[in-house]
Amino acid sequence: MFAAPLGLSLGLFAGAAPAPESHKALQIYFIDVEGGQSTLFVTPEGKSLLIDTGWPGNSGRDADRIAAAAKDAKISKIDFVLITHYHDDHVGGAPQLAAKIPVGTFIDHGENRETNSAGAQRVFAAYQELLASRKYKHITAKPGEVLPITGMQVRVVTADGELIERPLPGGGKENASCANAAKPPVDVTENPRSLGTLITFGKLRILDLGDLTSDKEMELMCPMNKIGAVDIYVASHHGSANSGSAPLVHAIAPRVAIMDNGAKKGGSIAAWDTIEKSPGLEDLWQLHFSEEGGSEHNVAAPLLANLQGPDTGNYLKVTASADGSFDVFNSRTRETKKYAAKKN
Ligand SMILES: [Zn+2]
Repeated sequence: MFAAPLGLSLGLFAGAAPAPESHKALQIYFIDVEGGQSTLFVTPEGKSLLIDTGWPGNSGRDADRIAAAAKDAKISKIDFVLITHYHDDHVGGAPQLAAKIPVGTFIDHGENRETNSAGAQRVFAAYQELLASRKYKHITAKPGEVLPITGMQVRVVTADGELIERPLPGGGKENASCANAAKPPVDVTENPRSLGTLITFGKLRILDLGDLTSDKEMELMCPMNKIGAVDIYVASHHGSANSGSAPLVHAIAPRVAIMDNGAKKGGSIAAWDTIEKSPGLEDLWQLHFSEEGGSEHNVAAPLLANLQGPDTGNYLKVTASADGSFDVFNSRTRETKKYAAKKN
């Protein structure tokens, strides 16, 4: 299901816009884990970071899909696995993944804070068992710190409910989207504890806040936008209605948003509308057609990795250059869309 890269042969055609050369590009696979998260970053030097592992069960389906993406990227090991928080659609797949492919270091926000939930306790315990094997290095990440992966900068912006205190380079402006925003309810699950990161590769900036909820978005973005603008926004919480508020999305003003929703998970009309109205948005891509969105609140078919119907596990892949240009490839259509570097 993963075809050989065509970059070498295409590069021979003089005059054609060259694809970002794979040996100099950052590759990002948005793996379809059916409404969970699993995003694989592979640097030009072959260093890798996986953000979340998808679901447990399903005969290792999500581990198989992650391993297939790793194979496509020609890596035989995952250097860093970052767990955003302790819900089954994020950390649940960790034991199956670790049984399938070597992992170097696990990174997380620390203790499970949702101790009244049997589900969170169960997946946290299974994850702790992995760490107790002492086969892996382990990092408990704090806001502001830069993770030790080379070839791209991964800066922690949120972890365990704490946030960066000072604006990042590019941030620090007053956020006009705060004025009319209603104060969101306080969320007491693991979601607002999500380990969120800003990933910088040359001029390209990518924001992934896991399932961070709108109450924390408000703290992070109001009254001052501490992040600044980004190129690619990984739609928080799979596009659920209690995340991805205007004070976040309209202030980071992404060029492209990628939503890791499932057919019946995430993909809410509210989050979808907020992204579509975001200033400067060029495209929203979705991993699945959202049943809630129906005919009015889903993107056009070329921007959808999985249509309605049987599960086919198609992925989206970003290939990015340090000058800020990037491509998005849809494994269902085999089509690639190019985004030129911003002029500045
Ligand atoms: Zn989730």
